[in-house]
Amino acid sequence: MRKRVAFVIGLAGALVVSGCSDSEDPGPPIDGPGLAAAISTDAVVGDLEQLERIATENGGNRAAGTPGYDASVDYVVGQLEDAGFDVETPEFDVEAFSATTQTLQVAGRDIPVQALTYSPATPAGGLAARLVPVPSDDTPGCEVTDYDGLDAAGAVVLVDRGSCPFVQKQQVAAERGAAAVLVANNEDADLAAGTLGERDEVRIPTAGISKADGAALRQGGDVTLTLDTRIEITKSRNVITQTKTGSSGNVVMVGAHLDSVPEGPGINDDGSGVAVLLETARRLGAKPNVDNAVRFAFWGAEEIGLQGSEAYVNGLDDAARADIAMYLNFDMVGSPNAGFLAYDGDNSGKAGDGPGPEGSAGIERTFEAILLQLGISPDGTAFDGRSDYGPFIAVGIPAGGLFTGADEDKTADQAAKWGGQADAAFDPNYHKTRDTLANVDRQALAISAEAIGYGIGHYAQSIGGPNGVPAAGDARTSARADAGK
Ligand SMILES: [Zn+2]
Repeated sequence: MRKRVAFVIGLAGALVVSGCSDSEDPGPPIDGPGLAAAISTDAVVGDLEQLERIATENGGNRAAGTPGYDASVDYVVGQLEDAGFDVETPEFDVEAFSATTQTLQVAGRDIPVQALTYSPATPAGGLAARLVPVPSDDTPGCEVTDYDGLDAAGAVVLVDRGSCPFVQKQQVAAERGAAAVLVANNEDADLAAGTLGERDEVRIPTAGISKADGAALRQGGDVTLTLDTRIEITKSRNVITQTKTGSSGNVVMVGAHLDSVPEGPGINDDGSGVAVLLETARRLGAKPNVDNAVRFAFWGAEEIGLQGSEAYVNGLDDAARADIAMYLNFDMVGSPNAGFLAYDGDNSGKAGDGPGPEGSAGIERTFEAILLQLGISPDGTAFDGRSDYGPFIAVGIPAGGLFTGADEDKTADQAAKWGGQADAAFDPNYHKTRDTLANVDRQALAISAEAIGYGIGHYAQSIGGPNGVPAAGDARTSARADAGK
């Protein structure tokens, strides 16, 4: 039922550029349809079984800094080496946040509270202060004017979750003189857990509470908040490898994050992306007949702030960055209530994050065309900075990729075209213990795997054409000249 006709690929694109002195037969040229057809969903599932076993044997997760992460690295390195790749595991510094004591007392009652990642600690013995509820509007606690008429000085302020990042609510509160912030969840689920993101933007202790507790505390009163938090510098590793063939000046770089959250085994997030890239690497082999080298990255410490990909990009000099033609990211590709989303390189979705660097629009069109051939009409998903493409687009490297959705809801329109449940999360197990293989949608995983193999094979053969990216040399240099400025 599948048609594969959309790509017009010139013969010149199929010529081998390197490895010519090699006496080994370079094999037939790699292309999108060929690599897609070679991908085995069973093999992808086999990798997910191994990652789940690793989590089970290591306390239920594969988070940065844990034995489960180290075992995940060993597994991926072993698979790649068995496929003939030379593998590096460059180390980088990780800022690891931890919270020991976390308590909130109100009129002798203990209320569950959780420090947001990178929250400073409260003074020894806790912070005893007035509680000042901030009225909830469409942008609760996001603007200083939300505090008009309130005496926030020295107080613990209570704001609702939503509309703007936690770090912004915390900065606004600090600006109005607050001593600490409590963020009440806007859903009936767990505490409002999350991260303040960048450590250098953090000013005052900030913690999450449940929606119900937030509502109960709106009458104000006195509270004692104790958050004993610390940040330790530790080490983690990325796993990096590259084909020995293909132009190293036109690298097609592809990545998925190898760490899970501490709360679960991380099988959809992002064992799925890892497994599909591993299978792609095995099918491609270390010496494929390709024009462009393919570099695989399995990132560490994504879940605690994209730290592995950021360290990697920061560690590349200008020439090494210029060698990367594009970066393709695959983070969650088997969601149980799957969406079919391509990173919105051209900003057609106008989600507020702007277009990707020049070339990103072509990558989006490529993945749209691939999914259309598979009978699926995809939507865009914004470059919102929630995965490892962030450091790449920040330096002007065009990026793209596929995503089957996380904790956002599937719309009625999306359910109508893809099936599944409307007004329910794409992945209700996101960042939970239930993010297991049993809860991965095998059909969505199979479609993603085929589309990812297709996209990688396509660009390994050629980065040119109407859906290509700027060529090495002047075109690429000028396309990236304004990045990060
Ligand atoms: Zn992820």
